[in-house]
Amino acid sequence: MLRALPAVDKVLLEPSVELICETIPRARCVRWIRQSIDTLRERLVDGGTGLSSVSDPSGLLKAVVAEVESKAAAEKLRSFRPVINGTGTLLHTNLGRAPLAKRAVQAMQQASGFTNVEMDLDAGDRSRRGQRLSELVCELTGAEDAVVVNNCAGATVLVLQAIAQGRDVIISRGQLVEIGGGFRLPNVFQAAGVQLCEVGTTNRTYVHDYEQATSDTTAAWIRVHRSNFVQKGFVAEPTITELVRAKRPKDIAVIDDIGSGWIGAPNSSGIFADEPSVIPSVESGADLCLFSGDKLFGGPQAGIVVGRRCWIERLRKSPMMRAMRPDKVTLAGLEATVELHLEGKLGELPFFQMLECELGELQDAAEAVKNQLSDTPHLVVSVGACQSTIGGGSMPTVEIPSVCIEVSVPSSERFAHQLRVGSPSVVGRQVATGLRIDMRTVLADQRDQLANALKAAVAAI
Ligand SMILES: *Cc1c(COP(=O)(O)O)cnc(C)c1O
Repeated sequence: MLRALPAVDKVLLEPSVELICETIPRARCVRWIRQSIDTLRERLVDGGTGLSSVSDPSGLLKAVVAEVESKAAAEKLRSFRPVINGTGTLLHTNLGRAPLAKRAVQAMQQASGFTNVEMDLDAGDRSRRGQRLSELVCELTGAEDAVVVNNCAGATVLVLQAIAQGRDVIISRGQLVEIGGGFRLPNVFQAAGVQLCEVGTTNRTYVHDYEQATSDTTAAWIRVHRSNFVQKGFVAEPTITELVRAKRPKDIAVIDDIGSGWIGAPNSSGIFADEPSVIPSVESGADLCLFSGDKLFGGPQAGIVVGRRCWIERLRKSPMMRAMRPDKVTLAGLEATVELHLEGKLGELPFFQMLECELGELQDAAEAVKNQLSDTPHLVVSVGACQSTIGGGSMPTVEIPSVCIEVSVPSSERFAHQLRVGSPSVVGRQVATGLRIDMRTVLADQRDQLANALKAAVAAI
C-alpha cells in the first residue's frame, strides 16, 4: 500500500497542479505535495482509517491533487481581493474602514513610482516629507502646524512619548478606554514611559480635579473621546474649552484625542451633533488634537496631529516620528482627501456617499437585484428595511435607516460561505430570516455585480 503513494514529481506533472505552479512559487507547491503524501502515509501506517476509497495508486494521486487544489484555492482567498460590504457597517474595520475617493486612488497610483515626496522640484533641493500635506491640514483645521503618522494609535504614543516621557499626564477615570484590538490607554501610557494620573470618577470629573492633581511632574492633561461607547445619566466632564481655560502652568499641554476625525462644523445637526470635531477643538486652543484618517475623515489609514507649532515641532524632532512616518502612497492619498475636504466636495468621499444615499435610491437598487434573481431556483429574495451603523469604533448609538435584500436559501450558512469565497466576495449579515445585505454599504459601482455573485453562490451550494 505504501508503495502505491505517488512520487512528488508525478503529482507535479498533473495538469491542474502544473497550472497552480504557474501562479504560486513551485517550492510551496512541492511542500504542499510532500505534506499531503506524508499525511496519507501516516494514515496508511495507522491501518488506513477512512482511506478505503483511495487505496489504489490513482485514488491516492487524486487525493494529493485534490488537497493541493484546495490549498491553492484557500491561498487565493487570503491575498487581498475586492469585497462587497453588505454588512451595513459603513466603516468596517475588518474590511479596511473608509473606502477611498477616486481622486485619492489616482494620487496614490501616481505616487507609487518615483515621486517628489521629499524633493522641491522648483528649487531642485530636498524638501520636508509631507510639507504640503501639513499646510493643507492647517488650512482645513485652522491649526498652526500639523504632522501625520501611520494611525491615531501611533499618534497617541508619539504625543505621549515626545512631550511627557518620564512625567505624568492627567486623565479622567471616565476616559480610560479600550479602543479595540486590545489597545488600552493605560497600556499605551506605560509603553510610552508616561505615568498615568487618573482623576475624578467613572461618571463625573470636574476641572478642579485636573487643577488639584497638577504638580511639578505633570506634563499634560489629556481628554480622550469615548468613541465606541457612551455614558448616560449622572455624568459630567469638562469640555475641551474648559480644560484649556483652567488654571495650569504654561508648559502643561492640553491634548485632545478625538479619534474618530469628525471635521465638520461645530454642533452640526443630525447624527454628528454629539461628535467632537477637530475645528472647534483647535479653536478652543487645545495644544494638540489627534484624529484618524480612515474613520469619519474618509481617507487612508493615518494619524493626524494638529496644534500649536511649539508642540508639533517637538513631535517632529522625536526619534519616534521617523519610525512612524507614513509612506509616500499614503501621504498622496491623504493629501487628495484633504483637498476634497477643503473644496467642500465631501460627496466624492465614498463614506459620505454611503451615508447620504437616499432611501429611494437604495430601494431601487435593492429591487433591481431582486428582479435579476426572480427566476433563480431555491432562492427567496425579499426587500426590506434595516438599520446601518457607522462602525470603525465610532458613533456606537447611531443607526441610519436603510434598505436591504434578504435572501433565504435552504442552507443559509453554506450560502454565506459561498458568497464570501466567491468573486467578488460578498459579506452579509446572518439574521433569523436568512442572509441580509444592506444596500447602503454596497458601493454604487459594485451594485451591478451583486446579483451575479448571489446567483453563483446559490449554484455552488
Ligand atoms: C480610533 C481611535 C484611536 C485609534 O485610531 P487608529 O487610527 O485606529 O489607530 C485612538 N483614539 C481614539 C479616541 C479613537 O477613537
